[in-house]
Amino acid sequence: MDLLVVGSGFFGLTIAERAAAAGRKVTVIDRRHHIGGNAYSEAEATTGIEVHRYGAHLFHTSNETVWEYVNRFTTFTNYQHRVYSTHKGIVYPLPINLGTINQFFNAAYTPAEARALVAEQAGEHDPQKAQNLEERGIGLIGRPLFEAFIRDYTAKQWQTDAKELPASIISRLPVRYTYDNRYFNDAHEGLPTDGYTAWLERMADHPNIEVQLNVDYFDESQPLNKKATVGQVPVVYTGPVDRYFDYAEGELSWRTIDLKEEVLDIADFQGTSVMNYPDADVPFTRIHEFKHFHPERTEIFNQEKTVIHREYSRFATRADEPYYPVNTTADREGLLAYRELAKGEDGVHFGGRLGTYQYLDMHMAIGSALSMWNNTLS
Ligand code: FAD
Ligand code: UDP
Repeated sequence: MDLLVVGSGFFGLTIAERAAAAGRKVTVIDRRHHIGGNAYSEAEATTGIEVHRYGAHLFHTSNETVWEYVNRFTTFTNYQHRVYSTHKGIVYPLPINLGTINQFFNAAYTPAEARALVAEQAGEHDPQKAQNLEERGIGLIGRPLFEAFIRDYTAKQWQTDAKELPASIISRLPVRYTYDNRYFNDAHEGLPTDGYTAWLERMADHPNIEVQLNVDYFDESQPLNKKATVGQVPVVYTGPVDRYFDYAEGELSWRTIDLKEEVLDIADFQGTSVMNYPDADVPFTRIHEFKHFHPERTEIFNQEKTVIHREYSRFATRADEPYYPVNTTADREGLLAYRELAKGEDGVHFGGRLGTYQYLDMHMAIGSALSMWNNTLS
């Protein structure tokens, strides 16, 4: 074995695929029973509808290198993501755009009038100088829209004061003074034509790659554990960075989600793939209806059944899957301490969303793995 990859998510598989293509022998271990990390999907047993087991995943990128790379393993549909939000019993389009603003204020503002109104409602907050999510959010859309669509949704999702959260979280969403309600701004967008798992399996399908599932890197009864491998073989580690060091610098805060699945005997539950619920009195943050991600799968789409997930968010304990780095000020200090420890860990390369404690989308995880391969490992 020339390389051990811990974790078979997009980061780990990209490293493994590149190394295998360069003639190296790679072993990938994962503690789950399947490859693919959080992007894994499978057909729901009774309907055949593709369900994203760890939360809905939408692929989008403006990085041409990443786009060329991912197209080696899958084609993409022409799906364009759009999200709606039910606030006080009324449905609005997201991200905040001229349609949302005019519907919310019951008005017919032009783009310039809407900009002037939001500037007035943003008060003292300049989004460019914002230090946290609350300041950036109010600065971008003004207080009334912030309170309706962002404040309580963010509180439910992060359970952390918006003043403690990084401004970058809210910068993920565009604000537009047109009626364009596409969720993403990227040059390329779509869903893998035959599903995420088929794509992930093609990445791992190489004679130089061996995959071992149900193997936890910290389980010393397994031959490929941390103690037995560090210093013996180069390791790419994509699990949580704090867990790797046995929480020596304290626990970083992570958020996890619980997805409550229902199979319903109706053709269509909500008419769209994702409906957000920003009000404090609704306990979940959003409902995903998976058939709407693939209207081109007509036989599956047209059946009198549908699958939905209600998404509930909470802090992760050590026993949970960590999904999102919360990134409070204290976490950022902890991360610096872990980065110092990581520097001293000879032959171990930390990567991916969990290994670097960063809110990476799929295209970012793949792009960062390509860079690690090209700049360091190759
Ligand atoms: P992961 O996919 O998390 O893979 C890490 C792997 O390491 C896991 O399989 C885990 O089991 C394994 N592992 C951890 N510890 C150990 C251990 N001790 N031993 C062995 N194996 C271990 N991105 C988008 O681009 N669009 C989206 O719409 C989108 N939606 C998302 C929704 C949710 C709810 C979440 C959580 C993420 C979403 N993402 C989305 C991000 C996307 O999931 C990540 O960018 C991508 O999965 C990153 O891959 P990764 O390899 O870094 O991590
Ligand atoms: N957000 C919000 N209301 C919404 C949608 C998003 O307040 O209806 C905020 C929230 O803080 C969230 C962030 O914007 O964490 C990023 O949203 P995105 O949809 O990108 O989150 P993800 O899909 O990664 O969970």
